[in-house]
Amino acid sequence: MKSVMTSAMSTVSTAENPDLFVDTLIVGAGLIGSAVAMHLALKGVKNVRVVDFDLEGSLSSSELNAGGVRATWYQPVNIAMSKLSIEYFAKVADDVGYRACGYLWLKTPETMPFALKARERQIEMGWPVEAWDVAELKRRVPFIDKTDDLAGAIFAPRDGLVNPNLLKNHYRTRARELGVVFVDRTLVESASHGADGVRVIARQLHSPAFHEAKLAVLSGQASHEGLPWTRTEYQAKRVINCAGPWAPKVAEILGYACPSKPVRRQVCIFDCRDVDLTPFGMIVDSSGVYFHPEATNGLAGFATAGEPEGINYEYDGENFFMEQIWPSLYERSSKFERLKHLTGWAGLYEVSPDESAIIGKVESGDVGKSGRVFEAHSFSGHGAMHSYATGLLMAELMVDGRYSTVDASILSASRFERGESVRESLVI
Ligand SMILES: Cc1cc2nc3c(=O)[nH]c(=O)nc-3n(C[C@H](O)[C@H](O)[C@H](O)COP(=O)(O)OP(=O)(O)OC[C@H]3O[C@@H](n4cnc5c(N)ncnc54)[C@H](O)[C@@H]3O)c2cc1C
Repeated sequence: MKSVMTSAMSTVSTAENPDLFVDTLIVGAGLIGSAVAMHLALKGVKNVRVVDFDLEGSLSSSELNAGGVRATWYQPVNIAMSKLSIEYFAKVADDVGYRACGYLWLKTPETMPFALKARERQIEMGWPVEAWDVAELKRRVPFIDKTDDLAGAIFAPRDGLVNPNLLKNHYRTRARELGVVFVDRTLVESASHGADGVRVIARQLHSPAFHEAKLAVLSGQASHEGLPWTRTEYQAKRVINCAGPWAPKVAEILGYACPSKPVRRQVCIFDCRDVDLTPFGMIVDSSGVYFHPEATNGLAGFATAGEPEGINYEYDGENFFMEQIWPSLYERSSKFERLKHLTGWAGLYEVSPDESAIIGKVESGDVGKSGRVFEAHSFSGHGAMHSYATGLLMAELMVDGRYSTVDASILSASRFERGESVRESLVI
């Protein structure tokens, strides 16, 4: 491992700075850490600290996602968590950029029966979902004119889009108003457990790191030994791992194992000059390519088959668009014949073994016996839409010792040790 620049180091511990005694230390200030912070503060918890190596989050999934929010899931817990979150987004729509523009799923004769089964469940749980035949699809979305392979579509009008950056800042602003402190440029590096809490050692950089240095450190390709920093020792009553794709690393630091993997996902922006997408919401093609309007352009994404696990932010550029996106769109609409790739990026999904989130109290080993370590990560591509509910449920668990709004105990990591799974089949 190479070092980024020349180093300088000093130490601040609880002996010099009593502020480093905290009630709850949240590691990671993305959508999840920020939502947990807001809800702990709303429950009256004082002295909550959120630390992040990069508060701006330029490499965090919360800044690199597609902004889709939907309750069209198969697993009841995923439906319930999205529903709770979207109902909140609707209440603060202007602040978080929520638009109830719907999710439209195009289905083949093979996939329609399962979608209809899931729809029954979604409706039973209070989420309106329509089933369309092909004639209705063509009437409602006229630019979809190549439909020979389709059996129909599923449309959920209250699903939609948010602005993830606005949403994260909404959580942070409310948390700060209630006294939560967010600390930037702080990388958690080690921890030890004692009778009175968890001692967490972090390095706080004295000045902002450039993008390349952030990438090198968070990718594990370089240390930041060279950057001037202060060693900071926190003493926390509770710690929660909200480190997104880095949750396995932070779990290791906190002394337990996490079964998830970071996996690259790419999205692109394209010029769709022959069709106005703005009246529509998210459309999920039967191929798995999803797209939605992005200002006057389109945004599309696809989970490349066989994408290797690991931290990788390389965007494949026009090749991604030409090979993975455009052929499916071209097969769906004559209006998509003249699309033009504009730009794009790669971010990281944090994928759990069953593609449902891992949230709860860490129960394994000595860390589990301490009862002081919690986790909320591995959303496998649905963290933005679950963020509000996750914050609320984690605050309930951490403060009251149990969930009261939605029983999310099924999402505890201990399910994997018991050989159980919450397999989510409607992932994209
Ligand atoms: C291309 C793409 C499209 C997506 N589309 C959607 C979508 O449409 N809808 C949806 O709901 N979800 C979507 N997702 C998933 C969603 O973005 C994530 O599930 C969600 O943002 C996870 O938030 P988080 O707070 O857990 O993690 P992150 O936002 O990644 O935050 C983790 C934070 O932890 C910090 N950190 C890591 N290690 C340390 C350490 N040792 N010390 C201190 N700080 C540390 C990082 O700096 C980072 O800021 C998408 C993701 C991608 C990549």
